[in-house]
Amino acid sequence: MDVRLTRAGNRAVGLAMMMLVSAVIGSVVVAAAKSPAKPAMPSPSAAAPVTPTKTPLPTKYVVLTFDDGPDVEYTPKVLDILAQYGAKATFFEIGQNVRKHPELTKRVHESGHSVQNHTWTHADLRPLSATAFRQQVMSTDQAIRAQIGSTPGCLRPPYGGVNPTVRQRARALGKDLVVWTVDSRDWTKPGTTAIVQRVLKNVHSGSVILMHDGGGNRAQTVAALPTILKTLKAQGYGFRVLTC
Ligand SMILES: [Zn+2]
Repeated sequence: MDVRLTRAGNRAVGLAMMMLVSAVIGSVVVAAAKSPAKPAMPSPSAAAPVTPTKTPLPTKYVVLTFDDGPDVEYTPKVLDILAQYGAKATFFEIGQNVRKHPELTKRVHESGHSVQNHTWTHADLRPLSATAFRQQVMSTDQAIRAQIGSTPGCLRPPYGGVNPTVRQRARALGKDLVVWTVDSRDWTKPGTTAIVQRVLKNVHSGSVILMHDGGGNRAQTVAALPTILKTLKAQGYGFRVLTC
């Protein structure tokens, strides 16, 4: 139950988050891994920087996450909108997509966002053999590392698929499992308004918001994003990224 958050561009600041399963918002969360060195914090709302930084982290914040990219059409659009609103996000990328568009992974990283691991083929990790599990995670690590120069510490299991074996294997590879607390369900293409409302109705400080920049037509996500960002900013939210 331990996740690292920083504002991009700052040195890593360790924070731990306890995230709760919420059937109401149809979403959930984390299972966790390693990190003996990480300080434990009781809750997102109580989270505070452990290491002093020049720019204080926002105390009221959300964590924006985009899954299933990089995608040649939608990732650049998402990046442009994030830049327009000065927001940083975490991108859980699929290894085989990184291999196809390594330049996009690099651009995400160089734009100050966090790039993390979402397996090689978007595999459900639960039924895999130990060898297949390692391949899914480590080949993705390698593809991302080749573009950003560091190894992702966060692993988002596709479909939020976690069980004790997945937890144990993730821990053995030094990964923190990170799911989400607010699911935009943008992948169901419910319409731009529905995506906006689902996010804004369920958000609170510390929320980890799930959206997608890849894996299909993400035009609705792209269309919803400006309103989401504008509203969150108007409500005083800042943006933190995950760095496990
Ligand atoms: Zn996914």
